[in-house]
Amino acid sequence: MKSWISYPSDCDFSIHNIPFGVIAFNNQIVLASAIGGYAVNLYELCMSELIEGSPDLYKTHTLNSFIAKGKPFTTGVRLQIQQLFSDNQSPLALSESLQKRVLIPIEKVKMQLPLDIGDYTDFYSSIDHATNIGKMIRDPQNALLPNWKHLPVAYHGRASSIGISGHTFHRPKGQRKPPDQDQPVFGPTKALDIELEMAFVIGKSTDMGQSISTSEANSYIFGMTLFNDWSARDIQTWEYMPLGPFLAKNFASTMSPWIVTLEALEPFRVKGYDQNPPVLPYLQYTGNQNLDIELQVRITPQNTISSLICHSNYKFMYWTMAQQLAHHTVNGCPVRVGDLMASGTISGPEPSSFGSLMELSWKGTKPLTLQDGSQRTYIEDFDTVTITGFCTSGDVRIGFGSCMAKVLPAL
Ligand code: CA
Repeated sequence: MKSWISYPSDCDFSIHNIPFGVIAFNNQIVLASAIGGYAVNLYELCMSELIEGSPDLYKTHTLNSFIAKGKPFTTGVRLQIQQLFSDNQSPLALSESLQKRVLIPIEKVKMQLPLDIGDYTDFYSSIDHATNIGKMIRDPQNALLPNWKHLPVAYHGRASSIGISGHTFHRPKGQRKPPDQDQPVFGPTKALDIELEMAFVIGKSTDMGQSISTSEANSYIFGMTLFNDWSARDIQTWEYMPLGPFLAKNFASTMSPWIVTLEALEPFRVKGYDQNPPVLPYLQYTGNQNLDIELQVRITPQNTISSLICHSNYKFMYWTMAQQLAHHTVNGCPVRVGDLMASGTISGPEPSSFGSLMELSWKGTKPLTLQDGSQRTYIEDFDTVTITGFCTSGDVRIGFGSCMAKVLPAL
């Protein structure tokens, strides 16, 4: 498949992708897709009767109502958009005036948080990450806790502080207890960390009491984004027992603006981990449920060049999205359209693939040297962190754009 829109071979938004997002430009907010260097105004496509749906579905501030129309509808619209851009005799290809209304250079739009996120859950599903953290904060001989290989561990996060790529936030303050002191102290975190993650978006709501099986899970997943689960390690270490993360995590998270559909990701499915010990029947699954998605993290200090600090892959996940969703709902917990489920830090087996600074600097004992010569154990004020991700298979390539945020000094 080729498009009559030209773009470089390493473009994230190829004809194979057709992601969904929300854009603001010229004082209006509409749903959009992206191809090459353009945002695609879906409201204009709808007004020209080139895609299904009513105009009010596309002239709105979030994707929730669009997603709630269900997969037969949303996959249909995606295929209609793909057809408009692949057929060089399509009504859009033949009309320059229509193209002027529909195609907006991507640098001229302001990406919006694309979802009304009701609930956000963060899993802990990378075995290398969980093993590294266990080695550092507990016992190197028994790094994984007894439950880890039996269920996808998670906590309920905070949806209100999820921001869109390009946002800034202030270094959080909180309690921490320095190891050499008897009493906790209060102040800005001294150990601000990143977590390289991806998140999936719930595409179909369930009722209270209803469970989603692993075989049904994919029909409940609309698509995926890049995700940074910012973490304050010193606050976390002091507060997390016995109920888990709280203020160490709920001050800010960052998501990428374009939701790549599960259908676009189909060609990149790979086999999951061999899970041993075997999991309970409700967590068993068939087929290739993992995804080969290359992931990179860069730090850019103020006024200088960026440094690649991590190169990982989503395929290193031990627990699949299908298992996460089956586990999340096995007790009857309802999910709603627009809910976000994040993967947990995605670390691979090599040190260069560790997805957090806590692992990359091994709890501060091995500082990283950046391209500008400066060193990092944790994130400093005015650092910008950018996550990117893409998939390739033969000459098919799709990408997620970027998930970027800048840290400002504590207020
Ligand atoms: Ca996390």
